[in-house]
Amino acid sequence: MSEENSSSFMKSLFFGEIREDLIFPYPKASAEVGDTVRMVLDSIDKFAKEHVKSSEWDEKGQMPREIISYMSELGMMGIAVPEDLGGLGLPQIGYARIMQEMAGIDGALAVTLGAHQSIGYKAMLLFGNDEQKKRFLPRLASGQLIACYCLTEPGSGSDAASIKTKAVLSPDGKHYLISGNKLWITNGGIANFMTVFAKVEVVENGEKKEKVTAFALELPAEGVSVGPAEHKLGIRSSWTNAIHYDNVKVPVENIIGGVGAGFKVAMGVLNHGRMGLAAGCVGGAKKAIEASVLHANERVQFKKKIGEFGMVQEKIGRMMMNCYVAESMVYMTTALVDRKTVDYSLESAAAKIFATEMLWETVDENLQIWGGNGFMKEYPYERWLRDARINRIFEGTNEILRAFVALSGMQGPGQELAGLAEAIKYPLKGLGPVSDFAIRRVKRNLMGVTITKAHPALKKFAAILEEYTTEFATQVDVLIQRHGKNIFLRQFAQKRIADIAIDFYAMACLLSRVTRAIEEKGLEKCELELAMTEAFFHRSNRRVRNNIKSIDKNDDDSMKLIAAKAYELGKYPFEAFAD
Ligand SMILES: Cc1cc2nc3c(=O)[nH]c(=O)nc-3n(C[C@H](O)[C@H](O)[C@H](O)COP(=O)(O)OP(=O)(O)OC[C@H]3O[C@@H](n4cnc5c(N)ncnc54)[C@H](O)[C@@H]3O)c2cc1C
Repeated sequence: MSEENSSSFMKSLFFGEIREDLIFPYPKASAEVGDTVRMVLDSIDKFAKEHVKSSEWDEKGQMPREIISYMSELGMMGIAVPEDLGGLGLPQIGYARIMQEMAGIDGALAVTLGAHQSIGYKAMLLFGNDEQKKRFLPRLASGQLIACYCLTEPGSGSDAASIKTKAVLSPDGKHYLISGNKLWITNGGIANFMTVFAKVEVVENGEKKEKVTAFALELPAEGVSVGPAEHKLGIRSSWTNAIHYDNVKVPVENIIGGVGAGFKVAMGVLNHGRMGLAAGCVGGAKKAIEASVLHANERVQFKKKIGEFGMVQEKIGRMMMNCYVAESMVYMTTALVDRKTVDYSLESAAAKIFATEMLWETVDENLQIWGGNGFMKEYPYERWLRDARINRIFEGTNEILRAFVALSGMQGPGQELAGLAEAIKYPLKGLGPVSDFAIRRVKRNLMGVTITKAHPALKKFAAILEEYTTEFATQVDVLIQRHGKNIFLRQFAQKRIADIAIDFYAMACLLSRVTRAIEEKGLEKCELELAMTEAFFHRSNRRVRNNIKSIDKNDDDSMKLIAAKAYELGKYPFEAFAD
């Protein structure tokens, strides 16, 4: 296993290994962080009661600008900025807890706050040099500067590397001149600090290339024009704007992370920022569960509380279980981020995918439990559904993130297998890699993996993860050998691989968290946790089994043919009553 993979829990799964040391014991915020977060949560609660008018804002499609000043007064604009630069200095675990709370209060408000600090000035926080940090972070943390993250363009969404915005060095070498168009920029209408991604011409090995570069742009600046706020399905009161740059001057000292390093910066920001979004989904789901439970306990039909009906119980059970799993993944991942030495890119993608889909299902089922009332504007539930929808689209669509999980995970075993093929082709160079590989695979298949740190009461669940991890790694090898580099094009397979890996991470987080719960509270007080573990493993075990089986036996060819026909015909061609 490569050095890089050895520090990633999910990447090691692709080699058939379980890095228990990365996920046990289940993390917990320090007492100091806990105290600060509790204080902030108290003030958020008061702020929400006094100032947040979600339904009115949603109706108007705008929240009042002063709301940012109130949030600034509470220190909310610099949650993760170091204290010596004017922020609260909280680690990711604390940041996530606050974003969870904000999203439970109002989705649009959480997105506004998240666009400012989960992504807006995150490049500065993670990749800025000391001088830049001193120049910008205190004002960003105080709310004097409001940030946005400007990557998406009309022709470049998921394919972020294809941006067309250009930055050209001025003849005196002191400035770059940025020109181009950005689209759907959250906070675009209120920001006076923009992290702008643009392409700069560089010469590499004597060849001219255009490479993405990140710039910190402070407003006002001549040549920047911001379009009107977009009308949206959900998070309607947040600002979403197009931005046009016409030869906008940015000093060379404002390049973040170096010329040409912008793609790494953009992706690094998103990997990090996704935890705020995923934590927000947990906050939204908790609120929806509360609403569902209230109605299930109160509404009477057929002379019974609707909560007594099995179909409603199944919904509540599923909502609770999935929220618990998502929360376990989110806080595990924040702890991986806080370790600072661990590669958490796959885990943050997995937590984002799981949490956003969990929230969508939860707000949908909540609306269903509320029946006709759920559909009415008089209640907030239809808004919660609308607000939740965006999470599966921004900060990396869930499709792109699934492809990322699968391909990034398979890269390690792929490189190992490529090295192996090379060694077989040129045996005179020595067959060391072949024998190493063979020994590792034989060992893996004979000995399997053992989870030693899960509580003994969870043995049967740990056994499921142990069994499938070996099977999964074998299937990964088979797929790589079958498709070689073309695995890049095999998205049906990628989706299965990603879904298995996400389920594994979810299982592992659950084992770790419930182990901690049992150790702290005792087995007898963990009835609810154990029931959720039982239910989740039952369901995820079935999903994993199906996904593994479907690697070889599936309907992919039929699906491709159906899609191809639809593209060819441009419509659904049947009409049952006249066929
Ligand atoms: C409300 C809102 C706020 C936003 N805020 C910001 C912001 O602050 N800053 C910013 O830079 N951007 C922002 N965005 C843009 C957002 O990040 C993009 O919408 C998102 O990345 C998807 O790009 P796209 O909309 O162009 O969709 P496309 O990339 O065109 O994708 C369309 C569909 O095709 C799928 N697809 C595309 N490529 C592939 C592939 N290779 N494999 C499989 N499926 C694929 C996608 O998953 C999606 O389902 C925001 C968008 C919205 C709607």
